[in-house]
Amino acid sequence: MFDVQKSITAQKKYCQENEAPHFAPESGNCWSCHRNIYTPIEKTGWNGGTYTSGITVEKAGTELVTGCPHCNRSYCD
Ligand SMILES: [Zn+2]
Repeated sequence: MFDVQKSITAQKKYCQENEAPHFAPESGNCWSCHRNIYTPIEKTGWNGGTYTSGITVEKAGTELVTGCPHCNRSYCD
């Protein structure tokens, strides 16, 4: 499930609960590729298959975001 606002809240909560540093951009907008990390983007893989990149609400609530899923820019350098 993709939801920008819910994902932002979920990631903030995850960081607070785990005392982890919050690397993700406040708005979810990647400063490198200008796409929202919590929005699905369909891509074509190396083998011609399609896949979707982006961080779901579930993932934002269970994993620390350290980089952009679309352009793979790291936020913790
Ligand atoms: Zn990006």
